[in-house]
Amino acid sequence: MALGNLLIDRWRQVRTPSFVKMLCAHLFTRIIPTLCCSVLYGSSFDSVVTKLQATAIESENPPMEPEDEEWENRGGHRLSWTRYHRHKDEQVSFTSLIVSDIDSYLDYLAYTYTDICQTEIIGKSSQGRDLKLLKVSTGGKGKPAIWIDGGIHAREWISPATVTYILLHLVEFRDQHSELLDSVDWYILPLANPDGYEYSHSTDRLWRKTRSRVGGSRRGSGCYGVDPNRNWDFHWAPGSPSDSCREDFSGPRAFSEPETRAMSEFILSRQGEIKVYLTVHSYSQMWLVPWGYKEEKPRDYYEMYTLAEKGVEALEAIRGTDYLLGTAAELLYTAPGGSDDWAKGVAGIKYSYSIELPDTGDYGFVLPANQIEPVGQETWAAVKAIATHFADGHN
Ligand SMILES: [Zn+2]
Repeated sequence: MALGNLLIDRWRQVRTPSFVKMLCAHLFTRIIPTLCCSVLYGSSFDSVVTKLQATAIESENPPMEPEDEEWENRGGHRLSWTRYHRHKDEQVSFTSLIVSDIDSYLDYLAYTYTDICQTEIIGKSSQGRDLKLLKVSTGGKGKPAIWIDGGIHAREWISPATVTYILLHLVEFRDQHSELLDSVDWYILPLANPDGYEYSHSTDRLWRKTRSRVGGSRRGSGCYGVDPNRNWDFHWAPGSPSDSCREDFSGPRAFSEPETRAMSEFILSRQGEIKVYLTVHSYSQMWLVPWGYKEEKPRDYYEMYTLAEKGVEALEAIRGTDYLLGTAAELLYTAPGGSDDWAKGVAGIKYSYSIELPDTGDYGFVLPANQIEPVGQETWAAVKAIATHFADGHN
């Protein structure tokens, strides 16, 4: 990403409404901020942004409640939906077992709801973290399945938080929608890029990529990480080594990242079974339908659109959040190597969507943790509407 775009992107991510209103509100478009602020602040534009980031990030995530900490020692879990949780590394034994609040919640569900939940480690990240998936199924064969992944992009913390919120309701409130479990199987991977996620907590809040070394050497040339949503082997666009510092570096080859490779292999192993692919990102409040790599639409776009519309309508009915529905090429820009295009184009999953969660830019990636529950509620409503389509016997 060019420096100008990066600054614009970061400006959009962290703008603090009162501050922005005071200084810039009616002056800037998406293009002008860099130029304008350079003039206003000279070389300190970056530090202005950094200060804004620090303020937004500080207020984004409240500390953990003591009772949540305690739960961990009482055989429960300590995941909550009032704060963002770290993918926390702990030296548990000689083998350096890695423990995560999110992974522990999956284990808790599998341990507590043994009749319907099963964890599976589908692979490892480049730094050795587990890619842990939860299968939710009441058994039986030949059911349609829904795949949901979160956290492909590290800094989009609302994504894994929302995906675990969906798990909470799907599993722990199962009595309220037993038909969705009886007629649909679920494969849910809340944290698809755990290395990047942890790095966005520990070091760079706005980190987007994986943390592999494919673009960077130990001697300091190039940069770490690949954009895991440009790395899928469908109309993948090669990234040259000199691009490795870009936020959207597609990698030296398709599926260079163990994370994308593991996901794709798992999905292909369930080919024909998985009928819906949902990948959860933020931000911009959009429900994106393939194709993302080109402007033309798939032949069955109307059917894809119609089902997506059911999801968006259910979502908007909760609290009136506006979502745009269309292709990425229409609403954003064309981009090759995305997971949703691959799911449709290679895995043959008819209903493949990217959901861009709130907001539309006031907080951007640094969405306050008090938004996890409202965003979770409306997104769960959308997912239920999609699942109901299959529970009603449609294909
Ligand atoms: Zn994203």
